[in-house]
Amino acid sequence: MLLQRQIFFDHLAPTSSSPLALEIVRADGIYLYDASGRIYIDLISGISVSTIGHHHPNVIKAIKKQADNYLHLMVYGEFIQTPQVKFAQLLTQHLPGNLSSVYFVNSGSEATEGALKLAKRYTGRTEIISFVNGYHGSTQGALSAGGNEELKNSFRPLLPGVTILPFNSEKELLQINERTACVLVEPIQGEAGIIMPSENFLSALRKRCDETGALLIFDEIQTAFGRTGKLFAFEHYQVVPDILLLGKALGGGMPLGAFISSKDIMQSFTSNPVLGHITTFGGHPVCCAAGLAALNVLLNENLMDGVAGKEELFRKKLQHSLIKNIRGKGLFLALEFEGEELNRKIISMCIENGVVADWFLFAPDCLRIAPPLIITETQIDTACKLILKSINQLT
Ligand code: PMP
Repeated sequence: MLLQRQIFFDHLAPTSSSPLALEIVRADGIYLYDASGRIYIDLISGISVSTIGHHHPNVIKAIKKQADNYLHLMVYGEFIQTPQVKFAQLLTQHLPGNLSSVYFVNSGSEATEGALKLAKRYTGRTEIISFVNGYHGSTQGALSAGGNEELKNSFRPLLPGVTILPFNSEKELLQINERTACVLVEPIQGEAGIIMPSENFLSALRKRCDETGALLIFDEIQTAFGRTGKLFAFEHYQVVPDILLLGKALGGGMPLGAFISSKDIMQSFTSNPVLGHITTFGGHPVCCAAGLAALNVLLNENLMDGVAGKEELFRKKLQHSLIKNIRGKGLFLALEFEGEELNRKIISMCIENGVVADWFLFAPDCLRIAPPLIITETQIDTACKLILKSINQLT
C-alpha cells in the first residue's frame, strides 16, 4: 500500500520544492499532533488563522449545529441566512460607523479583488496605488497590487495602472492624485517581514486620500482579530479606512473573507451593472457560524488583554547573539537572522525540536512568530527555550 506521504508528493499540486510535509492528525489549543505521535507547538497559527487556538469547542459546536440546519442554499446576497446576518451585525458593532456593510467572500485574495473593483466602480477612476513588499493575495488582481517584483514578473501582463510606492515615505504620497481610485495598504506589513508604519505614515495617507478623493483600503487579512493586541490593527493609529479587508482568522478556521465599507460605497455594486460582484459560496453559512463563534470567544474570553504582555515575554526570552532584531507588535513578530540560509536551518531545527515556525514571503531571513493568542506564559517559555536550543545546535 502506498504511504499517504508518497501520495501527497505524487498527487497534490506542489507550491515549493520542499514542503514542510508534516502529517498532522489532530490539533488542539496550541498543539499539533502528527501521525507518529509527535507533538508540536504551533507558533504560526496556520499563518495567522487559528487565533483562538485549534479545536475550540464553541467553534466545533457552531459548525455542527449549522451543518444540521443547512449548508449552501443560494448564491451570496439573495437569501437571509442567520449566520451571515448575526456575524455581520457583531463585526459592524465593533467597527467605526462608516464600516457598516459587509460583503462576505471565500478568501483574503477575493476580498482584495472585490475591494479593488468596488473602488474603481465607486470613484469612476482606474488607477491603484500600493506599496513595496505589500502582499494582498495570489489571484491576478491582488497580485497586480502586490509589491514584490519577483513574485509578479513571470505572470505579466497584470492589471495596468498600478503604482507601487515605498512604504513609510510620506513624500511619495504626493503620487496619489485625482486619477487614483484607491490606495491599498497593510497598516502593519506582514509578508514584508513585519514592517511597522512610521509614526505619521497612516494619518498622512488618510489625509492625502481625503485631499484627492481616493479610497483608502486597509488590508487587515493578517493583522485583525487581536493579533497585534487590538481587534483591528488600525485602532493603534486612529486612522479609519474606507474599505477594510478581512480573511484568515475571520472564519475561525473555516474559509472566509470579507470586504467591509459604507452602505453608500457598497451600494455601487447594485447598478450599472447590477450584480457588480458576485460569488456562489461567499459567506458560506457554516463558515460564518464558525467565524461568529470564534469572534465571540475572542471577545468573551478577553484574549486580547494578554497579548502585549506575551509580546514582552517573547522579546525578553528571545535574547541571542544571532538574533539581529525582533520586529512587530503583539503576537505578530519577526526574528531577523543573518541571511536566508541560516534562518531556514533554524526553522528546520525548530520543527525537529517540536516547534512549528516559518519564514515570510518577502523576508526569508526572518522567522515568524504568530501563535494562537491563548498561548500561556509557560508555553511561551518552553517555545523560546526550544528556539534558542535550535539556534545553539547550529552554531
Ligand atoms: N492579504 C494579506 C495581508 C495576507 O497576509 C494574505 C495571505 N497571506 C492575503 C491577503 C491573501 O489571503 P488568501 O491566502 O486567503 O487569499
